[in-house]
Amino acid sequence: MENQLQNHLDDFDVIVVGAGHAGCEAALSAARLGMKTAVFTLTLDGIANMPCNPSIGGTAKGHLVREIDALGGEMGRAADATFLQSRILNRGKGPAVHSLRVQSDRIKYHTYMKQQLEQTENLSVKQDEVCRILTDDNRVTGVVTRLGSEYSAKAVIIAGGTYLNGTIHVGDSSYAGGPDNVMPATHISDSLKELGINLRRFKTGTPARVHKRSINFDVLEKQDGDDKITPFAFDNDAKLENTVSCYIAYTNDETHNVIKDNIHRSPMYSGRIEGIGPRYCPSIEDKIMRFPDKPRHQLFIEPMGLDTDEYYLQGMSSSLPEDVQIKFLRTIKGLENVEIMRNAYAIEYDCCDPTDLAPTLEFKGISGLYGAGQFNGTSGYEEAAAQGLVAGINASMKIMGKEPMILDRASSYIGTLIDDLVTKGCLDPYRMLTSRSEYRLLLRQDNADIRLTPTGHEIGLISDERYDALQKKLELIGKEIDRVWHVNLGPSKDLNDYLESCGTEALQSGIKLAQLIRRPQLSYDGLKFVDPNRPELPEQVKEQVELQIKYEGYIKIQLEQVEAMRKLEKKALNPDTDYSQIKGLRLEAIEKLNKIKPLSVGQASRISGVNPADINVLLIYLEQQSSAGRALS
Ligand SMILES: Cc1cc2nc3c(=O)[nH]c(=O)nc-3n(C[C@H](O)[C@H](O)[C@H](O)COP(=O)(O)OP(=O)(O)OC[C@H]3O[C@@H](n4cnc5c(N)ncnc54)[C@H](O)[C@@H]3O)c2cc1C
Repeated sequence: MENQLQNHLDDFDVIVVGAGHAGCEAALSAARLGMKTAVFTLTLDGIANMPCNPSIGGTAKGHLVREIDALGGEMGRAADATFLQSRILNRGKGPAVHSLRVQSDRIKYHTYMKQQLEQTENLSVKQDEVCRILTDDNRVTGVVTRLGSEYSAKAVIIAGGTYLNGTIHVGDSSYAGGPDNVMPATHISDSLKELGINLRRFKTGTPARVHKRSINFDVLEKQDGDDKITPFAFDNDAKLENTVSCYIAYTNDETHNVIKDNIHRSPMYSGRIEGIGPRYCPSIEDKIMRFPDKPRHQLFIEPMGLDTDEYYLQGMSSSLPEDVQIKFLRTIKGLENVEIMRNAYAIEYDCCDPTDLAPTLEFKGISGLYGAGQFNGTSGYEEAAAQGLVAGINASMKIMGKEPMILDRASSYIGTLIDDLVTKGCLDPYRMLTSRSEYRLLLRQDNADIRLTPTGHEIGLISDERYDALQKKLELIGKEIDRVWHVNLGPSKDLNDYLESCGTEALQSGIKLAQLIRRPQLSYDGLKFVDPNRPELPEQVKEQVELQIKYEGYIKIQLEQVEAMRKLEKKALNPDTDYSQIKGLRLEAIEKLNKIKPLSVGQASRISGVNPADINVLLIYLEQQSSAGRALS
């Protein structure tokens, strides 16, 4: 054994380092799969903390949350139970980008998740800092904490977020700290480096929180939630209601001038921050410096909970000095007398290089060691939770000697996220976007259960009852689509008047009801009056009937593309292959292939620096391998 053990306290199957959004999903999934699990956190009061915007979901992030729910994760249920306001974003665009987003009660979300952890069998929740990862011959064996306690484990999942050597920056002040001034984790990075894990510095930032009494809401635009609320959880049929409004304000020339005049005092622009920040969540300084011609920037003023007067200024993350923050905020209409309760700040932290991970999120070099969340180079609660779920499932699958769960790009945004991370890596904090998927018409938020719940059931996180409910839903969808293709309609006066009122052509002759549903101006619900035998169907079923009929052609094209992609995914590559031995590969391709160790030709084809000619060489090599194999057998 590498490390002599001082005081051994307990044995676990899975140990999760961190009880943030990644850690919670990892711990819950492992424990629910029967693993004796422990989750460590620096403070129990920070479980599932929202150190940034008090919201769950949004463009592409809403898709991730629904996929987490479809697989049997917890975030969707937590978001439904603790939301303040719910909206579907991008309603004016196609269904592929419709994204659910809720304003969450930050404290209630924390309490909900803490209770879930406390009430889950097989799960121990511990407040202590994990300082060392123990290994034996490149296999994880346990952890040692700040108190010198040692716990053995067959798998360890690192989900330490933005706490690893966390450094807070506000103007000229820089100090060791984690989000919301919780202490940073200052030992585990060295232990990981000793194990040969590459760590790098990333950075992110958050805006100020201000006092409700100091906001003049009368002059702000009000933004309310949707009348009809769609829950994140597919089996949640509770009646949900919005309880708060959000508000919209704008920066102006004066705001921009204050920031430009003080940009030299920004740790980002003075070079004191080395960490790389998120491209898609820029600070207000970045926005003003990068888009100088833009006359104003929008900000959302969002309540952080029902039992607090704190308001969050979405879009105003900054690391400028406190006096500058007050000055530029008070130039904004509605915030002239604003009182800051928590300053905006930037945080730098250590994270790993996700190309050192296999698609299971296990480190290629250390058996039983997994990474999840911000530690893997992503940004966002939803991205973190998705990885935590996958790492928790795969650590458990490996311990049980079962096949890992590797979701491909055509199955889900979760599969796309992980494939992007482990195959392409990320040079700045990776945030999920719908444009990252080449199959986004298939990966809509409305059909995540159809795509993933069978997998969640097979793994053991989805109950038989819920699986049967999905089968029932699929049956109803199939029956109804078949029925509307057999409903014949004639050019009646009522129907033609309705068609013209919707701005679409009147009928000259008979037509199938489904053909009408296909017209962009028409909807399944809208045509109820010409369909007297229509059965009463659940909302989710009606939604699928309409979408599958309307987008049948596009969906068919994407499914053909998926088939072609999966052909290459099926061409397995041995991760231990030494690509320098394969004749015809270019040097760059050899380097990249030996680094990434792809599991298939499909994955190899997505590695930057591996081009189609290299893929042909690999295909020929595999063909030669199999014909040599056949000759021997
Ligand atoms: C200042 C700031 C700004 C952000 N801005 C954005 C943004 O603009 N957009 C966006 O999408 N996301 C943003 N995020 C990022 C993201 O939302 C979160 O960081 C997210 O919470 C990541 O989840 P996680 O589970 O990976 O880690 P975290 O939620 O950070 O949780 C980490 C957990 O690990 C524990 N921990 C760490 N080290 C140890 C240890 N050694 N031993 C025991 N426990 C340990 C901590 O106590 C905590 O429980 C921001 C985060 C911060 C802090």
